[in-house]
This record gives sequence, C-alpha cells and structure tokens, in this order.
Amino acid sequence: MINYEINNFNFFMPVEIVFGRDCVIKNKNKFGKYKKIFIVSGKSSAKISGALSDMLEIFNETKADFYIFDKITENPLLSVCYEGGREAKLFGADLIVGIGGGSPMDAAKAAAMFAANPRMNPEDLFEPELYKNPPPDFFAIPTTSGTGSEANPYSVITLDGQDLKKTFNYAGVYAKTAFLDPKYTIALPHNITVGTALDALCHCIESRLSVKSTPVSEIYANSGIRLIYRNLKKLIDLKVGDNIDYSIREELMLGSFYGGVAINTTGTGFPHPMGYNLTLINGLPHGFACALFIGEFLELHKNIIKPETLGSFGDNLDNIKNTVKILIDYYSDFNEKFSDETLRFYSSRIKTAKNFTNSIIGITGEEEIFKIYKKCVGV
Ligand code: NAP
Ligand code: FE
Repeated sequence: MINYEINNFNFFMPVEIVFGRDCVIKNKNKFGKYKKIFIVSGKSSAKISGALSDMLEIFNETKADFYIFDKITENPLLSVCYEGGREAKLFGADLIVGIGGGSPMDAAKAAAMFAANPRMNPEDLFEPELYKNPPPDFFAIPTTSGTGSEANPYSVITLDGQDLKKTFNYAGVYAKTAFLDPKYTIALPHNITVGTALDALCHCIESRLSVKSTPVSEIYANSGIRLIYRNLKKLIDLKVGDNIDYSIREELMLGSFYGGVAINTTGTGFPHPMGYNLTLINGLPHGFACALFIGEFLELHKNIIKPETLGSFGDNLDNIKNTVKILIDYYSDFNEKFSDETLRFYSSRIKTAKNFTNSIIGITGEEEIFKIYKKCVGV
C-alpha cells in the first residue's frame, strides 16, 4: 500500500537519542555546560523511577544549580505550565529537563516557551507566530513508554475549566537530547504499562494509515507496531503482581520512541481526539481512551490494507483488535456506555479536529463521528 509520492517527502528528526541502561549517568557530559537546570516533573514518578536521583548525582559533580518544579498532573493544565514558565524565568534556567510520562514532558515544552517569552499570555502558547524568543535547551527523560513526546515537537495541554485539550506544535521545542533508559519504567504498575503501550500502538497504527505517511515514517510505524504488539501479547499472559521482564520494558520503550518519530511526520488519526473526551470528562487514561477506537479505525481501513502491510503488523486485524480489547477490559475497569445525547455532545466538541481527515479513509462531519462513537461506546 503506497499512498504517497515516493519521490516527494521530507523527513526531519533533530533529536539526539541516547538509549539503554544507565544512559543518563553514562552521558553526564551532556549536562556539563549547564549551570541553572530547571526540572519539570509530576509528584512522584521522577523519584520512584530513579531518574531524579541520577540527575542529582550529576549535579553534585557539576555543581549546577537546580530547581524542581513538581506540580505537573496528568493531562497538564495550561495555568500550571504557565506558572512553571514563570518560575523557570525567575530562576534563570539555561536548561529545562522534563522527567516523567507525556504529561511532564509536554508541560516542560510549554514551560520552556513561557520562560523564554515572559510577556506572552497563557493562551498565546497555541499561536507560535506570537513567540518572540527561542526557548532554552530542553532534555526529555521519559518514565513511561507511550507518548513518544521525546521525539516530536508536540505538546498536548488541557485548557483550565474547559475539559478540552489543545496541541501546540513548534519546531523550537524538540528535545535537544532524549535519554531513554528502560530501567526508569520498572516501577510502572501493570495498568499504566499496558495503557501507555496501547497509546504507542495507536500512534504507530494511526501514523501507518495516515495520508501523510512516507516511506521513512512507515518504517518506524511498522517496526513500532511489531515491537509493541508482540509485547502486549506477552502482557496478556501475566497476572497483576508478576514481574515484567526487563526485555519487555526495553522493547516497549523503543517501540514508543518509534511511534513518536512516526507521528512526528504524520500526526495522529481520529482515535486521539475521540479519546480526549473520555479522558477529560470520564477520567479514562489517555492510552486506553485512544485504544477504544483503534479497532474501528482498523476496521474502516481493512479493505485497503494489503497483505504485505498486514505482514509487517505481525498478525491479522481480528487478532490485533481482540488483543487490544482484552487488555482494555482487563486493565482499565472501564465499561461505561453512553447515550446518544452524550455522544452527540462529544462529537460536537471535536468535529473541527484535523485528525479526522488524516487517514486514508477520511471521516467528514459530525454525523460520521457520532456513528463511530455509537458503535464503540454507545448504549
Ligand atoms: P502521564 O500522564 O505522564 O502519567 C500517568 C501516571 O503515571 C502519573 O500518575 C505518573 O505519576 C505515573 N508514572 C509515570 N512514570 C511512572 C513510573 N516510572 N513509575 C510509576 N508511575 C509513573 O502518562 P502518559 O500516558 O505518559 O502521558 C499522557 C499525556 O501525554 C496526555 O496528556 C496526552 O495527551 C499526552 N500525549 C502527548 C503526545 C505527544 O506526542 N506529545 C502523544 C500522546 C499523548 P506522576 O504524576 O508522579 O508523574
Ligand atoms: Fe497519544
């Protein structure tokens, strides 16, 4: 399935990636030139993952001054990112480090923009043409294997009091370096491991079937699907409390990174905006919320997915859909079904999202969105 002009595409990936056990400490020289380091994190993950203590060991040596802004919650709020930016400016940060899942990494990108542009209003974050100054350098240290935020310039921020997510996308906020150490995900409980891996799987599938897919993004998307899917199948056989092998952690972290590179070129498809309502209004974590719609996304494309593409997915569509469903049912505890009225409301809130036309089978109009909602989560 080739849906692009093979001679006509761009591939841009300016992030330096260092991968592997202890990669932060082994690459401590990369921190050497910074003297005022502003860390953006959630309440606990930077600590329990071990990432923060690795950083502190380095600062102890380099004598860098550091500040820990640990107020980022899941689905980070614009007001908190703004506050972080102001603190970073006051501190005089020359490096911003985002440690955590997608929420702290995305929030760190926003805080970096606010730190560099202190006169900017919070809502101006979504208007890159208003930015006057480039942000300080930014390092990303993921502690989940899901969003791929370390490999792209996207930052998904929640508008205060509106239950709405908005994305800003600005080439200046790519991480200068991303440190991918699978050991930071060892403390992730099974449900977050599975939910975040489902997010990464969605990125790869949505990218692979995007109208913007290219020969290069396709390589990342296909490899990501294979890596993540085969490990999700292993996770099905584990019980809560069983140890998750380090090799699974490694492959999920690599697969999540591949997904981040893939959507860097293509963006995401409709499972993402459809999931946002369920995350913000119903509290379902991001990965599970997107995955609720990936089965229908695959179903809509099934007649145009050629056998060789499927071969690269590593299984047939029904098995992939089944695996995803089993994992959502078991690990998310989510079995809500919604009335037509609620689903019409949900459809109207996301009808202008660009994601709906960003797949080979494009979805146009509120009625089509409503039908997909009804099929997947309707009463
Ligand atoms: P998250 O919201 O960053 O974190 C979820 C939970 O996992 C938090 O409670 C967090 O604790 C905990 N956690 C993180 N790492 C841990 C560890 N190693 N051990 C134990 N607990 C840990 O989850 P996420 O799924 O990675 O990120 C979701 C966000 O990313 C959403 O806002 C979504 O919209 C966005 N997103 C961005 C992109 C992109 O390309 N930029 C793509 C997809 C999604 P703490 O609160 O202590 O951190
Ligand atoms: Fe996502």
